[in-house]
Amino acid sequence: MTLSDFWRNESSRFDALLFDIDGTVILGKHALPGVAEFLAMLRRSNTPFWFLTNDGNHTRKEKCRFLSRAGIKAGENEIISCLSVLPDLVKRNDWCNELFFQVGFLGDTQNIQLTTDLDRLGECYGVLMGEGTYDWRTTWEALTSYFRRYPDRPFIVPNPDTCWPSASTGGIGIGAGGQARCLQLLLKEMGVNITPVYLGKPYEEIYNYAVRQLGEIERKRILCVGDSLSSDILGANNAGMFSALVLTGITTRRQAEEAKRESCPQVIFETFNT
Ligand SMILES: [Mg+2]
Repeated sequence: MTLSDFWRNESSRFDALLFDIDGTVILGKHALPGVAEFLAMLRRSNTPFWFLTNDGNHTRKEKCRFLSRAGIKAGENEIISCLSVLPDLVKRNDWCNELFFQVGFLGDTQNIQLTTDLDRLGECYGVLMGEGTYDWRTTWEALTSYFRRYPDRPFIVPNPDTCWPSASTGGIGIGAGGQARCLQLLLKEMGVNITPVYLGKPYEEIYNYAVRQLGEIERKRILCVGDSLSSDILGANNAGMFSALVLTGITTRRQAEEAKRESCPQVIFETFNT
C-alpha cells in the first residue's frame, strides 16, 4: 500500500501530519517517489503538516535548502528539529550562563554558550554532542578523561539516532546518539556511569514541542510518517499519535514485521506513491 492510497480512504481520521525528513521525504539530494505531489495536495487542502527531524547537524535554513533542491517547498518555521527543544532545556536548568563544549557540528543553537576549543574542555560545565566530520579520536579521548573526572556533568545529545542512510556513501552514517552510546560504553568499562540527555525522537520533549506548535489537535488525530522504528515509530506510539512507517529509508519489511510491540507501526507504506 502507498500513503496516497491510505490517505484517499482514511484522511477524515486525521487533522495534521508530522513527517520525518531523511529516508522519508528525501534521500540525499532527491525527493522520494510521490512526496512532492502528496505535500502539494496537503497544502491545497489546507491540511497542516510539519517536518520533525533528528538532524541537529544542519540549521533549519539548510534543511529547507536541501528540501528545495529536491523539489519540496518548505518554510523554516515548518521544521522542528531535535535542537528546537534545547532552549527550553537550558532555561529550565538555569544553564544560560554556563559554557558547554560542542562536539562536531550543530545547526541552530540558541541561548547556550558553546566552545569547540578542546583546550577549554576543563572549564566547561557540560558537553553538547553534535556530529558531522571531526577528529573523533582526539575528541573522544579528551571527553573520556573529562567524564571520568566529572561523571555527573550534563551530557546533552540532541540527536538520539544510532545511524542514518548516508547518501554520500550509500551506506550508513553514525549518528550522535550512536556515538554517545559508544562513549557511555567505554566509560562503563572503566567503571564510570554517565547519563546522556536526549532531545529528539523518540523522546517526548520534541513531541510535546510539536503539539504546542500544532495547537488544539488531539494526539491520536496526528499521523506521524517516518522510516525509523526506534525513533519515528517508537516516538509516535509513546506520544499517543498514529504511527506510519515508510520502507524507503533504513528499515526493511522484515525488521518492521519483527518489531517489538512499542516500536510496531500502525501502518506500513512501501512509498508515498508508486
Ligand atoms: Mg529518517
